[in-house]
Amino acid sequence: MIYTPFNALSQTPRPWGEKCGVFAVWGAADPARLTFAGLLALQHRGQESAGIAVTDGRSLMRHVDMGLVSHIFDHDCIRTLDGHANSRAGFAGRLGGGIGHNRYSTTGSSRVENAQPFIGRSRAGEIALAHNGNLVNALELRRRLEDAGHTFHSSSDTEAILQLIAAHAGPGSPDPVADALRELRGAFSLVMLHNDRIEVARDPWGWRPLVIGETEDGALIAASETIALDIIGARFVREVEPGEIVTLSDAGVESRRFAPPAEPRAHCVFEHVYFASPASKVFGQTVQTVRERLGERLAKESHVPADCVLPMPDSGRSAATGYARASGVPYREGIIPNRYVGRTFIKPSTEERVQAVRLKLNIVEDVVRGNRVVVVDDSVVRGTTTRAKMDQLRAAGAKEIHLRISCPPIRHPCFFGVDFAEPTQLIAAGREVEQIRKLLGVDTLHYLSLEGMLDVVQTASLPREHYCTACYSGKYPIDVARAAAGAVSGKC
Ligand code: 5GP
Ligand code: MG
Repeated sequence: MIYTPFNALSQTPRPWGEKCGVFAVWGAADPARLTFAGLLALQHRGQESAGIAVTDGRSLMRHVDMGLVSHIFDHDCIRTLDGHANSRAGFAGRLGGGIGHNRYSTTGSSRVENAQPFIGRSRAGEIALAHNGNLVNALELRRRLEDAGHTFHSSSDTEAILQLIAAHAGPGSPDPVADALRELRGAFSLVMLHNDRIEVARDPWGWRPLVIGETEDGALIAASETIALDIIGARFVREVEPGEIVTLSDAGVESRRFAPPAEPRAHCVFEHVYFASPASKVFGQTVQTVRERLGERLAKESHVPADCVLPMPDSGRSAATGYARASGVPYREGIIPNRYVGRTFIKPSTEERVQAVRLKLNIVEDVVRGNRVVVVDDSVVRGTTTRAKMDQLRAAGAKEIHLRISCPPIRHPCFFGVDFAEPTQLIAAGREVEQIRKLLGVDTLHYLSLEGMLDVVQTASLPREHYCTACYSGKYPIDVARAAAGAVSGKC
């Protein structure tokens, strides 16, 4: 069933979105080093904090901190974690296991208490847990657990999952993990480290990706994206099914269901548009190929006579390739990023964001001056950085600017793990394309149609109705009433 949001949505505080990356390995001599490598590959999914937890078969140990993976973990730290994972005599022959997490950066919630993996100790045993996604009933669960005497140490909805597992553990409950997961509403791709195994699980809607792989040495891997398998030389085995729990242990790979897959599923189409790495295979398709095809389709829908196609680095490159190919307009690099300036999207104030754009991009005047340019980008969210980039192009002498966006206007907030601002901050919320064009200061503006986008992303085995397009259409796959009313802590 499809629910639509309410008018009240625009007045309510937005939960912080979370687009994290998760990784897990079982049966390796160096689980921390492999997890470190996996997290490096998944760094684009989150840059706020990162953490690794390992087991020695008897107890868990973790290291988490704020910042980038490469800054948090040095050689000694990884060696200590690997050493712990293999320290116990009886465990030595079994090799170690570990999990890791990259947390997406959002304003206001940058606190080390929210860095994952979390470790919980209860009747369910010791569990380290890391989460990608957002729950819409987190606050409700939390209140219920607090009423029952549970104490929380963070403001994260992920902690509620651990406490829920603890609440379900007991003599009468053979599977507290499955019991707990059945109570969660919303998006979750989870990795859970126990002392004798790893469990990974994906919500019944399949919002966020989660895949399984295996190294040549037989170590079992789970990761948000296939790019993390590639970086450690592991082969892709399969996706974790929506509603499935997969156990990775010395016994190999075992599967059980905690729920049937939702009908239809709700795979996040924005993974293909922006979020996942172009080098990954997501929901069965290579992201780069999908993005090129989005660009091709965009060219067919919005062709305009022009002298060159300029990709907006880096996120617009793949679509621009497809646009240039389909339109026959030459592809030229005219917007050059400075890689050493941090990401602009996350800067708290508009002014800071605009300044950061200037620091971040240089225009090649030779390419732009006197020319009719088609600029291709993947998406416009608030519009602040886009506006600043368009001003720069104009100042560099562009004769005409034709902005082409390889997804539809984002008009509605996401409650399932993408950090789209409050509806009032979304430039397209409540505005027609012509109004947006004026605000962005371009000669023409064209967004890819919803139809066009769905034509591209659907496959024979994954028809279009299995994608979540709520941020474009406002049609939410589940009831978001509680989330919209602020009933989400929303920090994975
Ligand atoms: P805006 O003009 O809305 O300020 O910024 C648009 C740019 O933000 C696009 O180039 C797009 O690639 C990027 N973008 C879209 N979604 C996200 C996101 O969730 N996080 C970050 N860091 N950038 C995003
Ligand atoms: Mg971008």
